[in-house]
Amino acid sequence: MDKSMYDIVIVGMGPAGYTASIYASRYKLKNQVIGKLMGGLIGESHKVCNYPTEDEISGLELMMKMQQHAKNLGASELYEGIVDIQRRTDGTFCLTTEQGNKTYGRSVLLATGLKHRTLNVPGEQELRGRGVAYCATCDGFFYRNKTVAVIGGGDSALSAAVYLSEIAKKVYLIYRGEKLRGEPAWIDLLSGSEKVEILCNTNVTAIHGTNRVERIDLDQPYNGASSLNIDGIFIEIGAEPDRTLISSLGLETDSKGYVVVGPDQSTSLDGVYAAGDITTASNYFKQVITASSEGAIAAQSIFSYLSRQTGVRTSVETAKTIKVRV
Ligand code: NDP
Repeated sequence: MDKSMYDIVIVGMGPAGYTASIYASRYKLKNQVIGKLMGGLIGESHKVCNYPTEDEISGLELMMKMQQHAKNLGASELYEGIVDIQRRTDGTFCLTTEQGNKTYGRSVLLATGLKHRTLNVPGEQELRGRGVAYCATCDGFFYRNKTVAVIGGGDSALSAAVYLSEIAKKVYLIYRGEKLRGEPAWIDLLSGSEKVEILCNTNVTAIHGTNRVERIDLDQPYNGASSLNIDGIFIEIGAEPDRTLISSLGLETDSKGYVVVGPDQSTSLDGVYAAGDITTASNYFKQVITASSEGAIAAQSIFSYLSRQTGVRTSVETAKTIKVRV
């Protein structure tokens, strides 16, 4: 076999990607994990408290452990962004990186996760990196004893507000809905904090500042004023799939752009599997543990897929026919 050909090229360095690599290595499949940055969105999380065996761990530390585990088992890594994937006439895949390098796989696992949603209000793009931020763990440090706003009402916003309340002087949590809808444990922490003020039924309509963020406009007056003076704004309103690779492969998606997968994580294109936040699986419950389990299922399915191609019946397939749990 061509030595530069991987059994699986895994695109994405988050929980789905590294777990798939761990399982692939155990199946003796030659695998490569590719991405621009290790960790995925969870790598930005300051605290993960619901991953079994870890009472409390930073997202980055958890991901470093997964990465080390995958590397110990033989994963190869490439730190480059993939911009194009093409299926070749012989059924293998050619992946092209931003730098123009190429890598080849007998199968592809898409585990590219999600990208941050933006508010799309005036001033957001202009002041990005100068007070407009999308990751409290990465940028929170710069706001010691300052006043910040966090936008959103899901777990990302709530956990960011909790984290920032440990650093900043004042945190405004601004949510467009009636009632915050994250985990009750986060809501309890926020309600008990004197530094945090929660503004519901409120939208940010513009962000202002000369060189840095100075003020935001609100669509509902707060204390009689239609704007709020702040030093930074953390936009934590969720994330959505990046369509670049999905389009280049022509994969079927749902109406929101998530890749439609079967119970075995297969996509609409033979030889391409998807796992993690990018998929329609796990009842759309986007957690580290669900991403990891999708990665594990995908690796096993790819093992079966590649074995079918060579006409070898795998132990997993045999076990399925005699209803044994493996
Ligand atoms: P979610 O989609 O859960 O929440 C996004 C929030 O942003 C919602 O409150 C939404 O409002 C609001 N929003 C969306 N678009 C806009 C907009 N244009 N303007 C203003 N507000 C907007 O995303 P999260 O990133 O919070 O969570 C994603 C997944 O990750 C979830 O499954 C979550 O449980 C998980 N997660 C878990 C953590 C944990 O500690 N367990 C930590 C972080 C994430 P509305 O409610 O009105 O739709």
